[in-house]
Amino acid sequence: MSVIYDRVALIGLGLIAGSMALAIREGGLAREVTGFARSQATRDVACEIDLCTVCDTAAEAVAGADLVVLAVPVGAMGDVMAEIAPHLAPGATVTDVGSVKQSVIDAVAPHLPAGVHFVPGHPLAGTEHSGPRAGFASLFRNRWWLLTPLPDSDADAIARLDRLITALGAKTDRMEAPHHDLVLAVTSHAPHLIAYTMVGVADHLRRVSGEEVIQYSAAGFRDFTRIAASDPTMWRDVFLHNKEATLDILGRFTEELFVLQRAIRMGDGQQLHDYFTRTRAIRRGIIEAGQDTEAPDFGRPGARAT
Ligand code: NAP
Repeated sequence: MSVIYDRVALIGLGLIAGSMALAIREGGLAREVTGFARSQATRDVACEIDLCTVCDTAAEAVAGADLVVLAVPVGAMGDVMAEIAPHLAPGATVTDVGSVKQSVIDAVAPHLPAGVHFVPGHPLAGTEHSGPRAGFASLFRNRWWLLTPLPDSDADAIARLDRLITALGAKTDRMEAPHHDLVLAVTSHAPHLIAYTMVGVADHLRRVSGEEVIQYSAAGFRDFTRIAASDPTMWRDVFLHNKEATLDILGRFTEELFVLQRAIRMGDGQQLHDYFTRTRAIRRGIIEAGQDTEAPDFGRPGARAT
């Protein structure tokens, strides 16, 4: 692999930035990776595990960087951008990895100095773990990384970032930000909210909320608990910042739920069977698209094909 950027600055040192640091180093894709996180505790961990050159201030981290990655929760992007803006090198590219795109663009773009390029992005890769220790170099391998450039985004800046992302092992695609937010509301945001709700329901049911729910957890519920263990700050921000699309999808979800609820009440087995046959085909489509494997995953890494 060849060097794509001289200096990459990671602002926020959690799962995504940590994984980027490791993958960039593994691929020799930058001469130097600097990083900054707001808390001393996170900076200490990043130093201890030798993630990158950890700086004491965001200004120091971005100085002289030709790529700056904003890897903080969606609701913090605007403030972080305002803080680093005066220290950005002319000609640098700023990208972000936020799970929502339009609100990040609205928050970040006004602070952009002249001569600095902004190419918003979102890796469709993650786990329920957070913090610098959660990162691993192969996180992005064979995953999509969506870019939502602005109409006036610099073509060379986009192409160079595209090369880095591809070298991290991801597949890139481009989308308009509002479309991205709607697609992700269906594929990620609403499912997370449903998982949070289901685990909340179990928690409320005293009869099964103690030992029994843990001891007898079946695959369906276990999958929900894994998703519902995701970072509370990140997900709070996702819902607050992708409000309309998420509410739209949840409205549709509620309608479908009522249809199934009625089929159960009326004993309409045919309708249930037809419905589940349709949904099963979606699972097949995801496997055929290479986004998951047939291997059963019982929450044990060993049970899963890579
Ligand atoms: P993470 O592991 O929780 O790390 C978040 C980082 O942001 C930490 O370094 C934290 O600093 C910093 N931070 C938190 N609140 C902040 C604030 N108010 N101001 C400044 N810095 C703040 O998060 P992550 O999973 O890497 O997620 C980072 C971004 O990637 C988010 O925008 C998320 O939407 C997006 N994303 C996440 C996933 C996923 O599955 N996790 C997937 C794709 C995209 P301290 O540690 O010092 O508090």
